[in-house]
Parts: sequence; structure tokens; C-alpha cells
Amino acid sequence: MSDIKERKPENFIHNIIEKDLESQKYGDRVHTRFPPEPNGYLHIGHAKSICLNFTTAEKYHGKCNLRYDDTNPVKEDTEYVDSIEEDVKWLGFQWDERLWASDYFDEMYDCALELIKKGKAYVCDLSADQIREYRGTLKEPGKESPYRERPAEENLRIFEEMRQGKYRDGEKVLRAKIDMASPNMNMRDPVIYRIAHTEHHNTGDKWCIYPMYDFAHPIEDAIEGITHSICTLEFEDHRPLYDWVLREVGRWPQPPQQIEFARLNLTNTVMSKRYLKAMVDQGTVEGWDDPRMPTIAGIRRRGYTPEAVRDFCERIGVSKANSTVDSGLLEHCVREDLKTKVESRNVVENPIKVIITNYPEGKTELLSLENNREAPELGERTVPFSRELYVDGDDFMEVPVKKYFRLFPGNEVRFKGAYFIRCDRAVKNPDGSIKELLCSYDPQTRSGSGFEGRKVKGTIHWVDAASAVKIKIRNYDCLMKDDEEGGQSLNPDSLIETEGYAEPLLGEAKPGERFQFFRKGYYIADEKLTTEDEKVFNKIVGLKSSWKK
Ligand code: ATP
Ligand code: MG
Repeated sequence: MSDIKERKPENFIHNIIEKDLESQKYGDRVHTRFPPEPNGYLHIGHAKSICLNFTTAEKYHGKCNLRYDDTNPVKEDTEYVDSIEEDVKWLGFQWDERLWASDYFDEMYDCALELIKKGKAYVCDLSADQIREYRGTLKEPGKESPYRERPAEENLRIFEEMRQGKYRDGEKVLRAKIDMASPNMNMRDPVIYRIAHTEHHNTGDKWCIYPMYDFAHPIEDAIEGITHSICTLEFEDHRPLYDWVLREVGRWPQPPQQIEFARLNLTNTVMSKRYLKAMVDQGTVEGWDDPRMPTIAGIRRRGYTPEAVRDFCERIGVSKANSTVDSGLLEHCVREDLKTKVESRNVVENPIKVIITNYPEGKTELLSLENNREAPELGERTVPFSRELYVDGDDFMEVPVKKYFRLFPGNEVRFKGAYFIRCDRAVKNPDGSIKELLCSYDPQTRSGSGFEGRKVKGTIHWVDAASAVKIKIRNYDCLMKDDEEGGQSLNPDSLIETEGYAEPLLGEAKPGERFQFFRKGYYIADEKLTTEDEKVFNKIVGLKSSWKK
């Protein structure tokens, strides 16, 4: 306890927990849970919830469960379950217990019987439309159902018949008897059980009645001994019902408490499993792990690191006010994390051939290049240099614009780690495009030789032509763009594939290996597409930040 008191709470949820620890509301216990519905892959919004629940438990030496909220009888997809576990582990967390809400169906049924016996729940024969009609509006109170005063014995009998399968879907429901005039619509006799003649992946055809979320969730939490049930803000209005269920069922002397925080929204990002699933099903993307997807699987394949995602979740903090976070901040966190971790490689796109006319034919020098200026411990590598090289298409202009310090006829630049090189003349193809640049080098200016002569303004990178390795590069932009009508539509340029020439070492890249392509950005050898013979790189993020503090 003492070390907890000394630590400053990091957010309002931790404030609540520390008060509870002080008053010993749950003794010294802190128990959270992450409760995904296994109906899709997790996205970056879920990462916020995962980080919050697991780090909160860690901080207070408590526990955090992974609980599948599978009270909805849809077909289980083991693919989703597997992906959820992989994602949580990838983020660096380990659950204390892995549980299924459907394992509590018996106890939930029992709780419902208890409410009926206490006169706190009744079977209602109104149709879904009628129930909606009777509910009233925010301005007007609702109307009581004609079935509201059914005697408990009758309710027990019919509820049992519902369970036995005597009725069709929607024919009857079980409702909590609360207050049809409540200003909180959720308290106007909400439905707590419905009939659904549907197989459940876990319980098979044992049940044809299923509990509703607002009834099931508090019971799940209570059964597991959860202390702080953290959820998103949309459930704030449901909290009175959460508390009502636990109070009226009355089995738990110190029931859990629900605490809401603002869900994560990101600019240019759609975060809804349903929408993401539609994109997968329609083939708009290559799958749940398409590197453009905001799913954890997608950003992992894109090359984001768990450290960066956790850093991001920490920076955005936890608040009670909904807002939209600039996705540039997430990219910033990725860049910050990779900055001192990965080695640099030379890669050129839209290559232009350079011939150093005064460099001996057939000669190759092995030059040393530093792997990461900001992390000298990453050492150096050797790179071949010879008479024919490639430079990046962006590093030459026939007619330079103002402040262009790279290659143009008559200008001298430093080839990084090599020599000063002057562009003497551009040779063109018949169609007017550039065939090659005839250049000359100054042997005195070799890097590291201590050459103190003239200075040049531009430094560019290069690749030795004879040993260059061809690679594929996949450049990504956001999937969705703001359109003219003020909505969002698919960005047709969200994936642009290019080819590049790389220094020979990159030919040995293993799937999942990350690099900085010098002056270009951070890249990862795609896990799925990279083979022994073909190297395919995902652009993780550019070098420059568009994100402003
Ligand atoms: P979606 O609306 O994207 O389908 P969901 O809320 O239905 O997501 P669940 O599987 O029910 O997905 O969510 C599991 C947990 O993750 C819940 O506690 C939920 O509050 C939380 N969560 C979901 N989306 C976000 C988000 N954008 N930001 C923070 N937490 C989120
Ligand atoms: Mg949900």
C-alpha cells in the first residue's frame, strides 16, 4: 500500500482507485478486465482500452482478465479469438484469466429468476415496435405495459416456457420493472432477456433465450470479482441500470463499479468493427491485416511497434471528454521509437543512372557508412562504390528551382559517405527523358579523409549499380479522405507501389525487419510478401512529422 500512496495518480480513473484503496472498498484488490466481443479484429481504439485496463492492474499489483463478451449467439470465429489474443500479447500484456461470458448463462438465468420472484422483472408480450412506442420520448414519460403487473408465479412459469422453447423469437421478452417515467430512457423497463432460436458457439442449443448486454455485463463483472469496470462514454447513461441490476440481484456485497472514459477517435480513421469487416468482406482491402487498416494486425504488419502504440496511448491520456486525436501523433510516436532502433540503408526510387567518367573502370571501393547517426552503437556497414551508380529521381533537376542544392548540371554535391561529385551533363533518351548523368568526382574529397577544402550544400545518397538489389516498395496513405460533400470516402491512392534499387545488404532482409531508408523514411520487410527472392517493403512512416504539438 505504501508505495501506492507515494505515486501520483495518472488519470481520473486512478484517482478513483486510490480513493477506493484508501477506504478499503475492495480491500487491497484492483481487478479490471478487457471484454471484447469476438466478432472482428481489434483496432487501435481497443488498444487504448487494453493499455488502460492492463496498465492499471499492473500499477496497483492487481489483475486483469481477458473476457470474451459472447452473450450474443453469433457463430464463433476462432480466427477472431486467436487474433485478439495475439494482439493483446503483441502489445506486451498477459491476462490473468481468459474467460467466456457465456459460461455464466446458468447463473444469469438464476439471477433473472431472482428478479422475477422479487417482483422486479416481468414477462412482456408486447412486440418490439410496441415496446418502442410505449417507451415514450425524452420529453414524455413512457406508458406502462399491460403485462407489467403479471403475478410472479405466472412470470416464472412463462419465463421457464420461454427457456424450454415454447415461443418464437420476439414473441415474449423479460423486462426489468424499474420506472417508465424515468428521465433516463435506459431505466424504462429495459428488456433483459430475449428469445433467439440460434445456436451458440459455446452452449450449442442449450439456450434459446439470451441475456441482453445491460443485464449480462454487470453480472459478468460481479462473478469475476471485477472492482473497476472501465468502459467507454456511451455507457454512461447505462450506469444506473448496471448498478440497479447488481443491487436488485443482491448477491454481491461489494459490487463492481462502472467507470466511463472517452473512446479514441483518430483523424482520417474509421474505427468500427462492422465497417472494417465490410471493407474486408468487399475486398476493398487485402484483409484484416492490410497495412492500411487501423486494426492492431494491420498496424503491426505496417511496421508500427508495440512500444510506439503504448507510448501513444499514454500520451493521449484518459479523459471524460470525447475528442479526435490527430493520427499524426501516432506516427510521431512510431518515428520516435524507431529513431534510435533501426539501421539505415540506401534506397533510390525512380532511379537515374550516374556515370562517374573520371573513376577507373572495373574498380570497386568498399566504403563504410554509419548505420544510425543517433545511435553510434549500431555501428557501420560497408557499401560498394564504383563508376556506375544510381541516384534517386528526386535528387536531380535539369533546371533547378530556387534553393535546390542537389544534382543539376554544373552543381557539385556530396555523395553521402563517398566523394564530392559534380554533374557535368545530362544525356537524354530520344523521348526527352533522362538516360544518364555524366559526372566527375574529386578523389581528394573522400569521406573521412579530413578534406578541408571547399564546401557543398547538398548531400545525397546513392546505390552502386552493379550490385544494386531491386526491391518493391508499398507506400501508404490513409484509407479514407474527406470528400467535397463534407463526408468521407475511399482514398483511391491509399496504396502506391513503386520499385527501388537498394544497396546489396537489403537483399538479405528478413520478413519483419525494419530499416530507415536514408533520407526517405522507415520501412519494414512485409511479413507475408517478402521471400528469399523478392523483398517487399511497407513504408511505415516518413521521416518528417506533419504533426504539430
Ligand atoms: P466497435 O464499436 O469498433 O465495433 P466495440 O466497442 O463494439 O467496438 P468491443 O469488442 O465491444 O468492441 O469492445 C471491447 C472493449 O474495447 C470495450 O470495453 C470498448 O469500450 C473498448 N473500445 C472499443 N472501441 C474503443 C475506442 N475507440 N476507444 C477506446 N476503447 C474502445
Ligand atoms: Mg460492442
